[in-house]
Amino acid sequence: MDLSISDPNFHVLVVGAGSVGLLIAQNLKKVCIPPKLTFQSDLITHSTSTQLGIKCTVFERESYLNQRPREWNFGIYWAQVPLTECLPQSIIDKLSTAQVDPDRAPREDDFFPIFNAQTGVLLKKLPAANMLRMNRPRFRALIAEGVDIQYGKRLRTIAHPNVTADGKNLVTALFEDGTEAIGNLLIGADGSRSKVREYLLGPRLAALQLLPLVGCLAIITTFPADLARKIRKDYHDILLNGSHPDGANIFMSLHEIPSPSQPETWKWMLTLTWKYCPTESLSTRTEIRSAWDTWANKLTEPFHSACTSAPKDAPMWFERVAHWPTVEWDDRWGTVSLAGDAAHPMTFHRGQGLNNAIHDAAHLCRALYTHVKEGKPLAEAMAVYETEVVERGRKAVEESAMNSLMIHEWEKMKESMLLRNGMKKIS
Ligand SMILES: Cc1cc2nc3c(=O)[nH]c(=O)nc-3n(C[C@H](O)[C@H](O)[C@H](O)COP(=O)(O)OP(=O)(O)OC[C@H]3O[C@@H](n4cnc5c(N)ncnc54)[C@H](O)[C@@H]3O)c2cc1C
Repeated sequence: MDLSISDPNFHVLVVGAGSVGLLIAQNLKKVCIPPKLTFQSDLITHSTSTQLGIKCTVFERESYLNQRPREWNFGIYWAQVPLTECLPQSIIDKLSTAQVDPDRAPREDDFFPIFNAQTGVLLKKLPAANMLRMNRPRFRALIAEGVDIQYGKRLRTIAHPNVTADGKNLVTALFEDGTEAIGNLLIGADGSRSKVREYLLGPRLAALQLLPLVGCLAIITTFPADLARKIRKDYHDILLNGSHPDGANIFMSLHEIPSPSQPETWKWMLTLTWKYCPTESLSTRTEIRSAWDTWANKLTEPFHSACTSAPKDAPMWFERVAHWPTVEWDDRWGTVSLAGDAAHPMTFHRGQGLNNAIHDAAHLCRALYTHVKEGKPLAEAMAVYETEVVERGRKAVEESAMNSLMIHEWEKMKESMLLRNGMKKIS
């Protein structure tokens, strides 16, 4: 196979070392073997790509990876195939180490249980064949291996002052520390509040939109040993979800197992969302904890004990759930684009954001392959990527929002996408 590329100086600037930015950087080092991806949930264990070496630099605002204190974990439900497309075999071989439980093997009969959080009745087992539940900090650390990352680079804005002698458009990233970087293509992988999206569309059109009526409290904590053991033995070994008829949803997942034989060391992530009333004041730690305890007292086991066992001084995050329904952007002759949450920030109740972000990384690199290997003009190659990502992103954002609203209305909950379709990709 001819591994040469038509433009060896082609340089991709990726802004943001989150999951999608790092996966793009990994994938650009590889040849995308012909695009015959299927998005079924089976876990491919062998990468089909070899090294290509498109130059790529990732610029991250953090001073070091995982500097920011907010942690979470996430499920990969239908993006296992594109995930392996993005990664070299050496990282695929270690993927299990980034799981919330590194010893957990993918299971064909895996499921995601949904309970009535008032009565404890099991409402449904959503099929989730071969799901992977990743601890985000460890997943990032793993997929950062071998990537050229420049830290402490917070993007300020973007400029297009340069055209090369052969007429190619260049793009310049300007950072808050006064430095800049020039490349052929800049990808905004800078998350839900993307600065790149703001550059492309302006602050008004690019702004995140608050979802009416959904507030979210999140905590990472440990449980007493007996409770931790009981949850894993009697309910599910890594995750469960409870829906309360009064309009709340509680999700619990294992986050980390520092010591397998000491259940009191296991960390758990809890997210509580509810029909939030904008007059509710949640500006102090006491108010936040009081809202948490009020809901905790309405929940049945094991949700009640899980919520009340969280130490009073444990850091708790409150946010209004927000999203941005994707619209087309002017990609400046194919030189600036978006991926992941920057392109389609969505609500998380059906666990679709990361799955779509992984799909973006695979799809973008297949489009770039046609440029650097087959000579397709960059603007045309990027149009292929963007047409798909805008359509898929918008549908996923809108469907996720509808789902999030419906699961907080008891009479509509059973008709929600979550209950009807589980975590499947929308068609
Ligand atoms: C509690 C929770 C649970 C979730 N569960 C699931 C799930 O089960 N399944 C699922 O598919 N999805 C889930 N999601 C969604 C998923 O986490 C996101 O869709 C995914 O992480 C997006 O990755 P990203 O790389 O696009 O963005 P991010 O991970 O947000 O990365 C953006 C990066 O850009 C950097 N950055 C930001 N601004 C700048 C700047 N100006 N300059 C330089 N760098 C910058 C940031 O520091 C960060 O490193 C969940 C989300 C949450 C919050």
